[in-house]
Amino acid sequence: MATKSKIQEISIPKSESVEAWGMNSSSISPVFRPKTQEEIINIIQWANVNKKSIALRGGGCSYGDASINSQGIVLDLTNFNRIIHFDSKKGIIEVESGARIKDLWENGIVNGFWPPVVSGTMMPTIGGALSMNIHGKNNFKVGTIGEHVLEFTFVTAKGEVLVCSPKKNSELFYSAISGFGMLGVFLTVKIQMKKIYSGKMKITPVVTKNFEEMFDYFEREYKSSDYLVGWIDAFASGKSLGRGQIHKAVNLESGEDPDFPANCALEKQHLPSRLFYLIPKKWMWILMRPFSFNLGMRLINFAKYIASILVNGKEYFQGHAEYAFLLDYVPNWKFIYKPGAMIQYQVFIPKENALDAMKEIFQLCQSRGIVNYLSVFKKHKPDPFLLTHSVDGFSLAMDFPVTKRNKENLWKLCYEMDEIVLKNKGKFYFAKDSTLRKQIMESYFPKENLKKFKLLKKKYDPNNILSTDLYRRVFLNETN
Ligand SMILES: Cc1cc2nc3c(=O)[nH]c(=O)nc-3n(C[C@H](O)[C@H](O)[C@H](O)COP(=O)(O)OP(=O)(O)OC[C@H]3O[C@@H](n4cnc5c(N)ncnc54)[C@H](O)[C@@H]3O)c2cc1C
Repeated sequence: MATKSKIQEISIPKSESVEAWGMNSSSISPVFRPKTQEEIINIIQWANVNKKSIALRGGGCSYGDASINSQGIVLDLTNFNRIIHFDSKKGIIEVESGARIKDLWENGIVNGFWPPVVSGTMMPTIGGALSMNIHGKNNFKVGTIGEHVLEFTFVTAKGEVLVCSPKKNSELFYSAISGFGMLGVFLTVKIQMKKIYSGKMKITPVVTKNFEEMFDYFEREYKSSDYLVGWIDAFASGKSLGRGQIHKAVNLESGEDPDFPANCALEKQHLPSRLFYLIPKKWMWILMRPFSFNLGMRLINFAKYIASILVNGKEYFQGHAEYAFLLDYVPNWKFIYKPGAMIQYQVFIPKENALDAMKEIFQLCQSRGIVNYLSVFKKHKPDPFLLTHSVDGFSLAMDFPVTKRNKENLWKLCYEMDEIVLKNKGKFYFAKDSTLRKQIMESYFPKENLKKFKLLKKKYDPNNILSTDLYRRVFLNETN
């Protein structure tokens, strides 16, 4: 560990507001924004000597308090964002950890490569994505992002710089990825991108009348799909419980697309910033806002379901970015949930229990009168990372508005849903979480993984400098 003499003096920046993506929690903290590896290492060493608590922050796209620190400093890595090298033959990209998924795909697609795993938004950094070990709509097929990382450099919370890969320092490789920023900082990352042969994919929209049909379709079609995602109308009940729409996507084969590579140009991928060439999309949240209450959202979900019947089975071609990041093209859509904003509650349930568990969850929400406004359904497979959230099964992500009036009851509902998830051997995901409690986390994580994580935390962060509101809430049982 560094001694005081080797560390450059640091002046603590002015405090500012740091917000969760769902805008339901925030802190006032000093925020460092280093641009170089040397600055990052120096801050880590300085924090050790001065016993300062630091939360690492990437794009701030975690829905809850994963990159917030009410009790200390925030280290924002978004200015540490260079593309170091892109091997356009092999599709291997090396970036600084503050580069975003947007940088990855924009650099890749013009050379015929797409990131192997992307989230529903292109704004996360690679450091944040590895730290949560994100999954995409292709999780059932290619696993999580960590499975495509060839190597990374890492400064542990003690200040030691290490190179990690599945073979080199492999214990740290498999625990820093998924380690939610608690063991150290990702510095540079090498990722294997995926070859594509078209700027578009073939999409099949399929309407499903209830949960049973949704599950059946996923199980029948996943082997012939590259991506699968389901939207569910959470307001439907009875025989229609879990009704919705699936979008299946398949990549085109080499030689199949006469417009390749022209349709990989960025101007063919990004969507126009105006709706019908007229209304700026940045105003759309204002137009949507009048519907942001239970009856309005019931209507919108119903209208979406009817629209999906009209296009059922009608195949079309869609650009990669549009399929992957549709919501990014409606800027600030989350503002419809203001002033209290929103939480996402996402559960991962083994396949043998998932259907019954999800039905029970929806019925519970309806009986409590708190129905989520947007539900997304995906299929998953297990992965080898220490704090993995994935299962051999399915996930359901549910967006709930938070208001002064419903907050207490919403949290109670989440606690009730936690019990259904535990009973069905399910899991939760730190990237999405706002409500998890220590006793629930200890019940669903395998004991041996938890024990190993605690040992690694002591080994790589002996002064406990890395901490977040999420860590204190879920691991230390503290409220901020
Ligand atoms: C609209 C939307 C859609 C989403 N869709 C998906 C999805 O489909 N699949 C999915 O898996 N997730 C999804 N997410 C969640 C998102 O991908 C994760 O929360 C991701 O971790 C965010 O990365 P970030 O850079 O914003 O990091 P932050 O949210 O800022 O931080 C996340 C974690 O990473 C740590 N961290 C940040 N940088 C570093 C670093 N350099 N080194 C070490 N630790 C670091 C932080 O301490 C924190 O624990 C979605 C989020 C949104 C808002």
